[in-house]
Amino acid sequence: MSGKTVHVALIGQPNVGKSSLFTRLTGVGVISSNYPGTTVEFDEGVITRNGTTVCVHDLPGTYALSGTSDDEKVVIRDLSEGKNDAVVVVADSTDLVGGLVLCFETLELGIPVILALTKIDEARRKVRIDIDALSSTLGIPVMPVSSKTSEGVDDLADAICEGKARISDFRVRYSEPVEKAVSALGDGLPEGLPFTPRGTSVKLLENSEEFSSLIDARIGGVADIIRKIHSEDTGSSMEMEIAGNRYTMAQEIVDDIIMESDYQPTLADRISDLTITPVTGIPILTAVCLAILATIVYLGSALDTLVSGIYEKVVGTAIIDLGATVGSDFLTAVLTGIDGSIQAILGLVIPYIMVFYIILGILEDSGYLTRAVVLLDRTMHRLGLHGGSFIPIIVGLGCNVPAIMAVRTIHSRREKVILSSMIVMAVPCSAQMAIIMGATGQFSGIMYAFGILVMLVLLAIATGVLMNKLLKYEPSNLAMEIPSLQMPSASNVLFKTWYRIKDFFMIAFPLLVLGSIVVEILLTFDVLDAIVDPLSPVTVGLLGLPAVCSIAFIVGILRKEMALGMLQILAGGVALDVFMTPDQFVVFGVVMAIYMPCVATLITMWKEIGWKETVAVSVMSVVVAIVLGTATNILLQMF
Ligand code: GDP
Repeated sequence: MSGKTVHVALIGQPNVGKSSLFTRLTGVGVISSNYPGTTVEFDEGVITRNGTTVCVHDLPGTYALSGTSDDEKVVIRDLSEGKNDAVVVVADSTDLVGGLVLCFETLELGIPVILALTKIDEARRKVRIDIDALSSTLGIPVMPVSSKTSEGVDDLADAICEGKARISDFRVRYSEPVEKAVSALGDGLPEGLPFTPRGTSVKLLENSEEFSSLIDARIGGVADIIRKIHSEDTGSSMEMEIAGNRYTMAQEIVDDIIMESDYQPTLADRISDLTITPVTGIPILTAVCLAILATIVYLGSALDTLVSGIYEKVVGTAIIDLGATVGSDFLTAVLTGIDGSIQAILGLVIPYIMVFYIILGILEDSGYLTRAVVLLDRTMHRLGLHGGSFIPIIVGLGCNVPAIMAVRTIHSRREKVILSSMIVMAVPCSAQMAIIMGATGQFSGIMYAFGILVMLVLLAIATGVLMNKLLKYEPSNLAMEIPSLQMPSASNVLFKTWYRIKDFFMIAFPLLVLGSIVVEILLTFDVLDAIVDPLSPVTVGLLGLPAVCSIAFIVGILRKEMALGMLQILAGGVALDVFMTPDQFVVFGVVMAIYMPCVATLITMWKEIGWKETVAVSVMSVVVAIVLGTATNILLQMF
């Protein structure tokens, strides 16, 4: 089937979990349309695997295929058009009988079918289903799935793409009068009907208008006579008898394949359930995020003080003094740059980034992060992303460099661009967080710092929604199965932390040293000053900040965490809270949080998503930072 587009329809009774399954299967980029001439809506999405593109239609929920409601008519019309290469019948595994009846009806029409048993997570708590027995009874693949945990969704997507759907010769055992009527009608049916003679005959006997319209009125008339005679002879309608036969058979099969389960949920199962059920999962996730934030802020700053104290004691000004001893301005600038870089690395990497990665490692290793991904999957789809994008976003709170690297795991370019933009503009790395908390939080008040964080969340959502609309749709899907919840292993967590910090040293540290040396040289030779004036209409005019802040912003492109230190230097010995007003620190925090990625992130982005997009995202971030900074400035002046 390689290289061609396959059409598959999902059908199922209402409330069996069909739309949840559709969302998991097709991921982002779903298109909703109306059936021509009806108000009935259907969704269409795409799955791609190994060169096969499967266009999946989510048909309206129907109890049966008789054509008694608009929804049923739409489903029958869709099936009769013959454009579906296969149909996935979606049945609720916690209430199988109804789903099996719909499956019988579909099989009877001679359509290739895969049966998906949804809500398997819930069914398993009460019963054991013999899937193989069901599959061999029906003669089609039967796939248990859970849209809640994503279990089996990938296998189902594979089965659809590999063309595993089968036409079955399974037959419902109808009563003798029905069987006789079916064969009598079947013999008179013309060639070339969209469905099998048996299926069409049964539908005619059920008095289905949609099927009557497919054939000659004369045959329809014969069916009417048979139904009339049957009802006079037996006192009950043919439709009732056919439905009764189907239900009896479905019940017999269910009795055969379903067994009592001795399933006892463990504590981990219960906790796991709480984390992925939205009502409890969202508050848990919010609490986890706040706990991460609090740990980074408090434990981070405590470790920062400790590490800086040790550096002061052990090294002090020894490196800078070395330059002074030689008496060269240039060498002093270089050594000051190196000294600043070492301090930044010690003060940033160990307290903030390492702590963050340890927390991340614990969340990953315990299996919690995958649960958050599954929980957020649907919400993230609205932003044009998968739940899996939550991981790079969380990583971005540590450092944007590994976050952009983590974007690599996402296959669609479109999602890479959306996600990179969100990370660069709206996910503050630990250095930006240190500025938001340490400058705005300290000098303007913690509520303003939280206000900036809320603004960033809204900005992330707006960026996602907007870019999702602007960028051309590209199909991608990813169903992540959740591992069991477990105690994280210390060695795993430490290994991962080291692995990630190692990445940081390899990419960010050399740039940090180089950047600092350049800044120090420029400062030493008074070159940066030339930049202040041309930029002051923005810095002073729009943002209401001291003109020299533009230097802090430029330095921040090289190293975000250095912007605050630079501001201290620019203040020229005046205390920061005297140099700038509390309102100015709010604007400074807003701009610092949004504008330009740092050089290390820029280079990583360049490698991952290409230079055009990198430039576009960077320019956009500067514009958004200026707009939001100006708006903040105006608002603060008004109130
Ligand atoms: P539809 O009417 O067939 O499209 O059904 P929905 O997808 O709207 O789901 C109906 C209900 O079943 C919702 O409350 C879902 O949360 C729930 N549901 C869907 N799939 C699963 C699943 O795999 N496991 C569990 N436990 N609940 C599910």
